[in-house]
Amino acid sequence: MEKAIGDRKYEEAVEISKAIEDEGYFINLVLDDKVVYISDEYEVNLKDIIVYDVDEIVIDEPLETYIIRSNLGEFNSIKLGDESSISSIRIDPIISIEEQNNLFKEDRQFTMKLILMVLLAIIGSVVLTTSLATYITVGSIIKPLELLQTGTNKIMAGDLNFSLNYDKDDAFGEVFSDFENMRKKLLDLRDHQVKYNENRKELIAGITHDLNTPLTSIRGYTSGLLDGIAKTEEKQVYYLEKINSISTEMSGLVNELLDYSMLDIDSVNFNFVKTDLVEYFKDCILELEKEYDEKGMKIEFYAEIPDKVAYSYIDLIHFRRVVLNIFNNSLKYKEKDLGHLLITLYEKNNFYSISFKDDGIGITRDEVKKIFEVFYRLDKSRNKEIGGYGLGLAIVKNIVSAHSGYIEINKDYNEGLELILTLPKV
Ligand code: ADP
Repeated sequence: MEKAIGDRKYEEAVEISKAIEDEGYFINLVLDDKVVYISDEYEVNLKDIIVYDVDEIVIDEPLETYIIRSNLGEFNSIKLGDESSISSIRIDPIISIEEQNNLFKEDRQFTMKLILMVLLAIIGSVVLTTSLATYITVGSIIKPLELLQTGTNKIMAGDLNFSLNYDKDDAFGEVFSDFENMRKKLLDLRDHQVKYNENRKELIAGITHDLNTPLTSIRGYTSGLLDGIAKTEEKQVYYLEKINSISTEMSGLVNELLDYSMLDIDSVNFNFVKTDLVEYFKDCILELEKEYDEKGMKIEFYAEIPDKVAYSYIDLIHFRRVVLNIFNNSLKYKEKDLGHLLITLYEKNNFYSISFKDDGIGITRDEVKKIFEVFYRLDKSRNKEIGGYGLGLAIVKNIVSAHSGYIEINKDYNEGLELILTLPKV
């Protein structure tokens, strides 16, 4: 139970003041308008004193302590003596009312300032967040869109030699990577188109050249006959034989051209048969070695196949053409009186590779890419007066790719030519 303080003696009032002081407050105790107690540090700490209003001093009876309730909260004081002996106690504000008001004013101003600052901080952060969001929006949406638009405009203007660098890993990353793929595909397509057109032009130039030369010869021989230059029967027969061999040669060229075009436009029907390549080449050598031996070419075959069998799908007719074209080239471009052609069959993952290594005139590194092109004949071959139209290897390449295989040249082999033909395993 709590009750208000009654009258107390002067000493007891001082005692209470000291007790309050012990709680950490500076006391200026005025009793009946007389200062009866003042804290030692009162003057010194005047500026630092916390102003408080004592609302109520009550006695907590069971504990017999003062409870001082003020604007600073509630705190306890010392044990009481006889409560009836107290007269009056006043705990004054330790600074004047005016000062106190000033302080409150300052306090209010400070609070106002604080509120203003908080408000400003809130407004500032809202503005900052908004601008940041705008910046991020501009950066993350508008900029990539602008970049894409620039790319699209370039493509529309026919410029494909650029690259849109976008290294961010966001939703646009995928769009940019698709855009890049599209640009590269278009570039490949255009390069392919350009190359295709160039090839066509070269092809027409090649056909014109290779048909024109024999035609000129035929015309020369026929004019000779018509003009009566070939006076003797012997000479006439010679002229006629020439015309005959040239036309046979021309017919060979036309046939090869026809074969090439048919393969080129995918108009050839293939009849693939599961064949053991070990057996196939063994038979091939058995059948052809004598003939080639007589022409000055020794052919050998080795199978480096642990299983002894190497199955692949081949079209027997067209594959024979491949083999013969390669054999004939090794023969045509041999250097020594007795040339050598070494055929080795080996496994390469899911494929079988057949290496054709000869010791002929070989080709230079620059010529590597060209020899599979139509009508391509290396200068040294042209000079050598060897028959051929530069169609053989182009036909070989087309046939091999129809077998889902590929043919390449070993660039590092320089004692002749090494062709490596690769076919899928069955
Ligand atoms: P060609 O009818 O002229 O022989 P190919 O397409 O078969 O046409 O070959 C193209 C060119 O590649 C040949 O003209 C020749 O210069 C070169 N070539 C092909 N095979 C060989 C080889 N075994 N050794 C050296 N050069 C070769």
